[in-house]
Amino acid sequence: MKKMIFATGNMGKMREIRQIMEDTGYEIYSMKEAGVNPDIVEDGSSFEENALIKARAVAALIPDALILADDSGLEVDALNKEPGIYSARYLGEDTPYSIKNADIIRRLEGVEGEDRSARFVCAIGAVFPDGTEKVVRATIEGQIDFEEKGEHGFGFDPIFYVPELGCTTAEIPEEEKNKISHRGKALRLMRGELEKYEGTDCK
Ligand code: IMP
Repeated sequence: MKKMIFATGNMGKMREIRQIMEDTGYEIYSMKEAGVNPDIVEDGSSFEENALIKARAVAALIPDALILADDSGLEVDALNKEPGIYSARYLGEDTPYSIKNADIIRRLEGVEGEDRSARFVCAIGAVFPDGTEKVVRATIEGQIDFEEKGEHGFGFDPIFYVPELGCTTAEIPEEEKNKISHRGKALRLMRGELEKYEGTDCK
């Protein structure tokens, strides 16, 4: 069977990927399961570039598989789209999110209503064994809340309020979030790209 390797060590992401990519005709592996762990310098200037940089680095080690990689982050409009591609490194990689989230709330003092708009962005890059590359991007729109709310999720979820839900993405369970999240949407778009590439309906 054809192999798909997702360039992540994150088990939560792998669960979601397996759910969305099941029945596509690929055997799905994480980078760890595939036995590689390249040192990747994510020095691109966009989510798309960074996703492709990761996918290419793994493809160089495993040329006979389809390699997928994602890059995601939070864009806050009133902060000139910060932290953006630097989301994981915002205030330092090891700084607790309670501090990062409090900092973003503080920087938005005096900013009201729709001016607190923000989005999670996810780009997924693919490198096929023949060298073909694809990249997709998806978002979920929301607003920065005035305090942290909810115990689910991770990262900036407790301050990411989604008006349609009436709560933050930390207040809904993982499966619910996956249905509407940037990553869930991007994975479904990438599934569509794979089906187009294969020229078959992989359902
Ligand atoms: P990565 O693409 O997995 O490296 O994620 C980059 C960073 O973006 C994470 O470390 C979080 O800070 C932020 N981020 C991306 N997606 C989410 C999300 O769904 N919830 C909360 N934070 C997120």
